[in-house]
Amino acid sequence: MHHAARIERLRSTLDQPLLVTNLTNLRYLTGFSGSNGFLLVDSDAATFLTDGRYGEVAARMVDTLPATELVVYRDGLPRHLAQVIAGAESVGLESESVTWAFMRSLRDVTECRLIPTKGIVESLRRVKDDEELTMLRAAAAAGDAAFAALDELLVGVDTEADLGRRLIAAMEAAGGTRAGWEPIVAVDANAALPHHRAGTGRVRGGVLLLDYGCTVAGYHSDMTRTVALDSADVDAEFDRVYTAVLEANQAGIAAVRPGAVAGDIDEACRIVLREYGYEDHFVHSTGHGVGLDIHEAPSIRRNSQDVLEPGHVVTIEPGVYLPGRFGVRIEDMVAVTATGSEVLTSSHREPSR
Ligand code: ZN
Ligand code: ZN
Repeated sequence: MHHAARIERLRSTLDQPLLVTNLTNLRYLTGFSGSNGFLLVDSDAATFLTDGRYGEVAARMVDTLPATELVVYRDGLPRHLAQVIAGAESVGLESESVTWAFMRSLRDVTECRLIPTKGIVESLRRVKDDEELTMLRAAAAAGDAAFAALDELLVGVDTEADLGRRLIAAMEAAGGTRAGWEPIVAVDANAALPHHRAGTGRVRGGVLLLDYGCTVAGYHSDMTRTVALDSADVDAEFDRVYTAVLEANQAGIAAVRPGAVAGDIDEACRIVLREYGYEDHFVHSTGHGVGLDIHEAPSIRRNSQDVLEPGHVVTIEPGVYLPGRFGVRIEDMVAVTATGSEVLTSSHREPSR
């Protein structure tokens, strides 16, 4: 387990104790995947707090972490937290995950100064270690397995929602766990809506856009493929749009390497679509980091100054949407390596199945 190393890395970045309340950050640092827990990381020790439901599992977990104490509380969380931070002059709170009510309840019982912080653990999470890359590869492979089974999944399929359920089942059969978000399954004009939900649209001929993923040990996969189910039954412009989006996807992937600026990767996709005259139809950013959260740092968008480092895993997902007609998006997961990149999603990128 890499948790001890992660806590150590966090510690080296802190100028004051940090109270970790974001559950995803907590999972990253400790492996805890319950719904209620807190970790105070101090310069030489840590304390994990949770309620009685998780007492046993937390005790086993804390045993594997260095110099970490466990507090299992029944009630009066603010009072317990106040005891844990009692020696500190100030403590950092994760401003994006604590509520105003939580902060006030803590302020009422402690003299310790409460300092808002932002993105401290998240910025560590950008760089995936070997264990995390293994999970991300496995999640991507489960997505690929579902796409490879598309012919079978389409047999007797009725609606978009029906196909969405089959995709989830296929990923589960390949070792994935259902993600907290539903697959996007969109036919024809629905595919022109970038965030269409799988609904009652009939899956027959025409353009089919699939954007879906699963998790493995909490790590997400995210991929999009677009295919013409029956080439006789698609918009006359489909082939041209498909070629443009595929070239943009490949240009974006080719731009991923250590030291690359995220805004330049976005531009590498955009420039291709501009040449084809489709730039105005590319209505979202190029991609996002993916890990324990489906959307995390860094963001691959216009003018972003984020610099890619080995261990970052990002999506490259250009798309072109022609309202009322159809849309095409092709999305891959790409890991930054020491010398270049590794594409984690390996499904074919042919315009037909
Ligand atoms: Zn996606
Ligand atoms: Zn995505």
